[in-house]
Amino acid sequence: AKSLGRNTFEFFTPELNARAKASMLLEQGIRHGLDQQEFYLDYQPQFDISGQRVVGLEALLRWRRNHVAVQPDIFIPLMEQTGQINRVGEWVLETAVRQRRVWQQTGLLTDDCPVAVNLSPRQFTNAQLVPAIARILRENGLAPAMLELEVTEGILMENTSVHRKVLDQLHELGVRLSIDDFGTGYSSLAYLIDFDIDALKIDKSFIDHIDTSEKDVAITASIIQLAHNLRLKVVAEGVESQAQLDILRRLGCDYVQGYLCAKPMAPEAVAQRFAAPQKP
Ligand code: C2E
Ligand code: CA
Ligand code: CA
Ligand code: CA
Repeated sequence: AKSLGRNTFEFFTPELNARAKASMLLEQGIRHGLDQQEFYLDYQPQFDISGQRVVGLEALLRWRRNHVAVQPDIFIPLMEQTGQINRVGEWVLETAVRQRRVWQQTGLLTDDCPVAVNLSPRQFTNAQLVPAIARILRENGLAPAMLELEVTEGILMENTSVHRKVLDQLHELGVRLSIDDFGTGYSSLAYLIDFDIDALKIDKSFIDHIDTSEKDVAITASIIQLAHNLRLKVVAEGVESQAQLDILRRLGCDYVQGYLCAKPMAPEAVAQRFAAPQKP
């Protein structure tokens, strides 16, 4: 490359070139993987605080390439950068809604047990989002309340007229809305009052040391109290031990999600595990 002046030489370091090349290859891999149907969804059940009753299932995107699993934390950020998340996100919505409908038809899960889908910020500003969700629900005959959308705090913090309009339209449609990774973003809580939210998901990083850190207990306790004052349900993410579950129960947490109760699993495994009557 030609020299572009003394302030630009750093853009041409070998490491940066290698990184750019790696993302390009990954992007191509994603495109190929979409064509080859290498993507699929697992579902992680959420439980009430007894740890016995299923109250929801979160759809989680998976990519298996030549028998090797690629981590979502690797490919999802890239999909967001390239805009591929719009197409993939619609496929996730469609697949999760259709799956929830199948579970309903086979009487597997109670009526008050939505499927949760993660939405990335990029999908939010896409004018096609709301019409697509409305169409997917209609075509699959699923009640809107059986679909929950998980958004991060950032989306509510943006609070532009576009974000506001989309949130209003989603609320009007009747889908549920929860805030993902709560506590990791900004600390302004004003938006909790401003928007019609159904649940807060306390980020795993607060739950991890809840059995040894008084500080984390205090933070979690105050999040739960705040949420309840606003009539929101609280889900604790990443619950891995009985000790954590016991503390969360004592703090009045509503729901839990984590390896202790269930890992993300294929739809067939969900059917197997929750074939009536439900087993722990
Ligand atoms: P997330 O939405 O916070 O999802 C929870 C993550 O925690 C999942 O990781 C799940 O497998 C993991 N997890 C659940 N319980 C436990 C536990 O007890 N211990 C540990 N160590 N981990 C637990 P996963 O599946 O790797 O997904 C990572 C992130 O990728 C998700 O974080 C979400 O932000 C994103 N993601 C996944 N699927 C989608 C999707 O369809 N669309 C979008 N936009 N993002 C997605
Ligand atoms: Ca999530
Ligand atoms: Ca989360
Ligand atoms: Ca997360």
